[in-house]
Amino acid sequence: MTAEAFSCKMCGHCCQGEGGIVMTVKDQERLAAHLNISVPELVERFTRERGGKLHLTCGDDGYCVFYAEGCSVHPGRPDICRAWPFFRGNLVDQTSWEMIQEYCPGVNPEVDHAEFVRQGKRYLREEGLLRYDPDTSPNALLADD
Ligand code: SF4
Ligand code: SF4
Repeated sequence: MTAEAFSCKMCGHCCQGEGGIVMTVKDQERLAAHLNISVPELVERFTRERGGKLHLTCGDDGYCVFYAEGCSVHPGRPDICRAWPFFRGNLVDQTSWEMIQEYCPGVNPEVDHAEFVRQGKRYLREEGLLRYDPDTSPNALLADD
């Protein structure tokens, strides 16, 4: 059986840092429903606009506002969080994939890049995480081809 190319180790590295979590309309609606609040309230309380796109804010600790020893909104988390580490750059560029192994211990270095790409594309397709709208989808998502 082929080993998993990725299995999250819950280290929290990818939930750290301001500005990375782009919120599409779909993300806003799903997260607002999960929190049982309205979309305008979600936008007002938990996001900031930058470069024409909404991003989740960070807490004083430098982590995503929803990070609490893990994702506190896991079922409602945005597409970009669901897609990591199968970002476009890591799929098209083997060097990027090698570099993220230092950052994300969930990426299995024993599985080669071609298999990472195979498993990643299958996962993105199954989960509906391919880039569907160039205006609002995060650039990091792979386009459907
Ligand atoms: S950096 Fe990787 S292993 Fe750590 S929480 Fe994020 S996905 Fe999981
Ligand atoms: S929404 Fe959850 S998975 Fe995404 S960055 Fe915030 S804490 Fe991490």
